[in-house]
Amino acid sequence: MTANTSPVMTFRKGGSAAEEAEKESNANSGRRDKTPDYFSLKEDQASTVIRLLTDHDDWIYVEQHSFVPTKAAPKGVEKWPKAMTSVCRKDPAFDGHYGDCYICDNKVKNSFGKVASSRIRVWALAVERELVRGDGTEALGGPAKKGVVIGVRDKIDEVDELNAEGKTTGNKLNYPRLLVINQPMKGFFANLKALHGLYGTVCDRDFSITRDGTGTDTNYKIVPIDPIPDLKPGTPAWELYTQSVAERQVNLEAIVAEKAGDEYYARFFDPAKEVDKEGNVTDVAAAATGAVAVGGVMNLPSASGAASDTGLSADMRDKIRNLGTPTG
Ligand SMILES: [Zn+2]
Repeated sequence: MTANTSPVMTFRKGGSAAEEAEKESNANSGRRDKTPDYFSLKEDQASTVIRLLTDHDDWIYVEQHSFVPTKAAPKGVEKWPKAMTSVCRKDPAFDGHYGDCYICDNKVKNSFGKVASSRIRVWALAVERELVRGDGTEALGGPAKKGVVIGVRDKIDEVDELNAEGKTTGNKLNYPRLLVINQPMKGFFANLKALHGLYGTVCDRDFSITRDGTGTDTNYKIVPIDPIPDLKPGTPAWELYTQSVAERQVNLEAIVAEKAGDEYYARFFDPAKEVDKEGNVTDVAAAATGAVAVGGVMNLPSASGAASDTGLSADMRDKIRNLGTPTG
């Protein structure tokens, strides 16, 4: 059971219509806010409650580079991350599609001065939840339940509604708050794996997660909360989770793949490349003459730089084509 859905694609067709659509989308500088927040507990002993949407067997794992210093911010950009995480372009998921990995090939050092070798990291989707405690009122169980946990509910993401042209309508839509979890096995997913061993699933109950420690000593204490029979895969409430993921076009595979893409590496790491407003990747040297040296993510077949562009499955290529822009 999983909520990782692929978008249903119906491509619009025709040159004139495409030209109109391009003008319109260029005029609209706002980005679609499709990428959910990342699971993050910054302070020692901070905690939250989650409901995993991705069960044990569907956890995605990839080689990742962490704490990789970013290149200089583009002109006019004030808020720019010092370091970013990336997915290694040599991960077997891409089946040799990318001929290079800027970070591997150049033995780029991480923020701590060590070579930023890739490590296995795991990905899953979850809904962030919160404990509800009685406040003494009858609505919440009366005086006897004051201060006592009486239930768990979804936290809410308020998302701008978009019309058919991708512009905001002014309406806000409320969805269960989605979290992208990107953590190592050791200290995080291994704890969930142990619980999967007990229950056969990690989707049938909420987990209270508490950060224990800081830096590389961090472990996450994961405490299961009593299952809620009406909320597990196969129930109508679960179907609403699945629907909200689909409506928001959140696709975990696409989120992971984007972090290995040409645009991502050009934007954050490779100083010899740059990204224009449309997301096209160009050589810095060639940019002066206006030549597009390397295709952007919208132009994958010619972007491989390899002899063949059949290395990536059509399915994966579709997913990469459907990526949003990085929110880093
Ligand atoms: Zn790499």
